[in-house]
Amino acid sequence: EVAADSPLLQHLNPEQRAAVALPAEHALILAGAGSGKTRVLTTRIAWLLATGQIGPGNVLAVTFTNKAAKEMMTRLTAMLPVNVRGMWIGTFHGLCNRFLRAHYKLANLPQSFQILDTQDQLSAIKRLMKQHNVDEERFPAKELQWTIAAWKEEGLRPNMVEVRTEEDRRKVEVYQLYEEQCQREGVVDFAELMLRSYELLRDNDPIREHYRRRFHHILVDEFQDTNKLQYAWLKMFAGEGNAVFAVGDDDQSIYAFRGARVGNMADFVREFHVQHQIKLEQNYRSFSNILDSANALIAHNKTRLGKNLRTDQGPGEPVRVYEAPTDMAEAQWMVEEIRNLVRDDVPRHEVAVLYRSNAQSRVIETSLFNAAVPYRVYGGLRFFERAEIKHALAYLRLLENPSDDTSFLRVVNFPARGIGARSIEQLQDAARAAGCSLHDAVKATTGKAGANLAAFVQKVDEMRRETEGLTLREIIEVMLQRSGLLDHYKAERDGADRVENLEELVNAAESFVTQEGFGRDAVALPIDELGANVLRQSPASQGLDPSLPEVNEPAPDYVPPDADTGETLSPLAAFLTHAALESGDNQAQAGQDAVQLMTVHAAKGLEFDCVFVTGLEEGLFPSERSLADYEGLEEERRLMYVAITRARKRLYLSHSQTRLLHGQTRYNVRSRFFDELPEGALKWLTPKNQSFGGSAFGFGMGYPTSRAGNSTATGYGRGSETFASPPVPPQRAEPAHGLRPGMKVFHTKFGEGTVRTLEGSGQDARAQIDFPRHGQKWLALSVAKLTPVT
Ligand code: ATP
Ligand code: MG
Repeated sequence: EVAADSPLLQHLNPEQRAAVALPAEHALILAGAGSGKTRVLTTRIAWLLATGQIGPGNVLAVTFTNKAAKEMMTRLTAMLPVNVRGMWIGTFHGLCNRFLRAHYKLANLPQSFQILDTQDQLSAIKRLMKQHNVDEERFPAKELQWTIAAWKEEGLRPNMVEVRTEEDRRKVEVYQLYEEQCQREGVVDFAELMLRSYELLRDNDPIREHYRRRFHHILVDEFQDTNKLQYAWLKMFAGEGNAVFAVGDDDQSIYAFRGARVGNMADFVREFHVQHQIKLEQNYRSFSNILDSANALIAHNKTRLGKNLRTDQGPGEPVRVYEAPTDMAEAQWMVEEIRNLVRDDVPRHEVAVLYRSNAQSRVIETSLFNAAVPYRVYGGLRFFERAEIKHALAYLRLLENPSDDTSFLRVVNFPARGIGARSIEQLQDAARAAGCSLHDAVKATTGKAGANLAAFVQKVDEMRRETEGLTLREIIEVMLQRSGLLDHYKAERDGADRVENLEELVNAAESFVTQEGFGRDAVALPIDELGANVLRQSPASQGLDPSLPEVNEPAPDYVPPDADTGETLSPLAAFLTHAALESGDNQAQAGQDAVQLMTVHAAKGLEFDCVFVTGLEEGLFPSERSLADYEGLEEERRLMYVAITRARKRLYLSHSQTRLLHGQTRYNVRSRFFDELPEGALKWLTPKNQSFGGSAFGFGMGYPTSRAGNSTATGYGRGSETFASPPVPPQRAEPAHGLRPGMKVFHTKFGEGTVRTLEGSGQDARAQIDFPRHGQKWLALSVAKLTPVT
């Protein structure tokens, strides 16, 4: 029986308490953002442990991002003295990695298998296509990469894909070749981590039985975003007797484009005969101006399961809306605003900057950097994905595994050592003919090219011998010297940043070793205990309550993890795994208080006092591609709902009239989502109805033209204590650019037009221009190329 006065249950409302203390049966908690789903899930784990119903080994808890997994562990540790790192709590990928490391032989993988990130995967596919003369025009490599991932997420191996056309046949052929190549090189991609774990569980009865006896409780956060394979994977662990506790919010389903199935919720209820469905309707996160905005926005979606959210908190501050002339100006305004927040004692890590696409972060990063505001980027081009870091990691991988062809090709001629594309092609042909790795094929090559290749291989082999027995830090230092990478970047004119990053790699390794306790004297734990966050602690320090039941009796016929033979991963292999799975961001030193930058996707499940959602423009957010169909637009709206609901106290929404993206200046119309927010909750920091007369590129189609000229300007929002860079006040003609109202000008895209109004000065100068064929537009003069027509 549950002690209702258990301290664990004290900070919960009655519905939450009921959910936490449900019997060990399947349950679905369906509730909106900020209603405490994650809190309930975490508390349930603590409660199950504290009431002695299970031991730490009996829990399997899955969430979506590393950041969310860490957050869950932190919350759990705060509640109970357990060592959460020994528990199976993590992301799908992290847990699959852990599982495959434990059973690598049965999974038919080398012990130190490495994980291909999406970049490496793409180059591996491109390489294959070239070798096998697959037309890149007809089959863009990126598309194939996507298709292969989608197949894997459907659980389909090459021989299972239904082939209808010649085109299909060709694609499947590449898939097959790609698989063979990965297997030969001992690498797996992200989807493979999932699929291979699933297959091992499906096909190996003792293993499946073992884990089913072990995980009595399976808890899944963000269930609305599971895909078909993840659902099947969960079912493998669930079996007949284990309790699945799923929490989710259909309004926050934002991964349909990657195969997520909201339908998994309905399937779960049906297939598992779910007895307990609980709704939570109280939002504890946000003030009501923020929550009202979120509710009003999402009400525009038709496909919803329907939930309500209310808050007892007052209205709080209005949602601030800002319009900038350029993306640079938007970023600068934001940086000023952030500085004001920090001055008012808001910790930097409580400030999040969200954007729709990674490409947007560069401008923001530049502004923050110039203003010396520490920041940290999550996701995106992660530290470990930078070119110089990838090169360094490739050398390290070669030390670990000489037959890693992807790494071989990355650095065989980097720094340049006179090995041309032609020799490499020949080497690849030779390797294919002999069915061996590139490393091994070098022996058979001849001539000058052969000598250079042999020198490279020799260098790597020597490095391997030299680094034997060294600490991770020493290994990396030797590699940076001997590979010539450090000298190469030191000699480069703009190489200072890269040298710094390489040095940061040494730091990253160092902190990996200390944080994870992977020093020379570390206790080698069996691989069963290795996860994405590799655990190196003596069992005694795990702080487990000895009275709690431990992992159950093994199933009959159960083959213990390969690791029980005493094998462990080398620190280097563990670090390389860490590099592939963790975000390893370096922009702010560990522990430094930093502003958080990330895409909206990456922000799911997180919360911050102050949130900026930037780049709210038609074609960007909602994204151009999503506008093609109604479902796409609904998914964008859910994404916007996620963005808004991250904020506790203060929310900023901004957009810019022009934006330099992918090397192109775009003239943007503000996002339709602004029109779906309750006017009463907003405060326009810049006048509202600047009209741009529709979109330059037609992505504003279906856009109410009535917006133009529908002016209800609410003033400048002056007097706001937070108003940092004042909005551009209307001005008369600005002589510097030589334009005057009434003047005729020519624009390369819009043709001839007449200047109507001029505003601002210097960088911020902009003009309203009538183009007979394109309507009225506001153009930033620092960006738009206008020539006077005489
Ligand atoms: P999301 O859908 O965004 O993932 P969620 O439903 O998982 O949100 P949580 O992150 O668990 O929500 O909770 C939101 C915030 O509300 C957290 O700061 C949490 O600590 C707080 N909270 C949850 N329940 C309560 C409660 N009963 N009393 C006070 N605070 C609560
Ligand atoms: Mg949550």
